[in-house]
Amino acid sequence: MPFDVFERVLRPLRSRPVTSRYPDAAPDLPAAARGLPELDAARCDGSAACVDVCPTGAIALPGSLWTLDAGACVFCGACERVCPRDAIRLGQRIELAARGRADLTIERTWRREP
Ligand code: SF4
Repeated sequence: MPFDVFERVLRPLRSRPVTSRYPDAAPDLPAAARGLPELDAARCDGSAACVDVCPTGAIALPGSLWTLDAGACVFCGACERVCPRDAIRLGQRIELAARGRADLTIERTWRREP
C-alpha cells in the first residue's frame, strides 16, 4: 500500500503537461479545425450563394462589400460548400475576442467580373 502512495505522488511529475501555454503560444490546431470563413475577393463574383445559405445571417453583400459578422458565425462551413467559385474557405482564425460588437464585423471588397 505505501508504494501506491508513492506512485500517486510521482505519476504527475513523470508525465508531460496536458495543458498548453495558450495564449502565450499559438495553439496547434488540427488540419480539420474550423475557423472563421475567409473570402478570396479576387474569386468572388457576388452570386450571394453564401448569403442565402448562411443559417445565422452572418454574411451580407451590401454593394461591392462582403461583410461577415464574426459574432454570428457558427463555423458550419455551409458558405464554403455552396460557393460556386471556391471563394470562401474556413480559415484557422479561432480567436474572436473584441472590445465591441462593431469590431466583430469583417469587410472585404469583392471584385465584379468584367
Ligand atoms: S460558416 Fe456557416 S455561419 Fe459562418 S458565415 Fe459561413 S454559413 Fe454562415
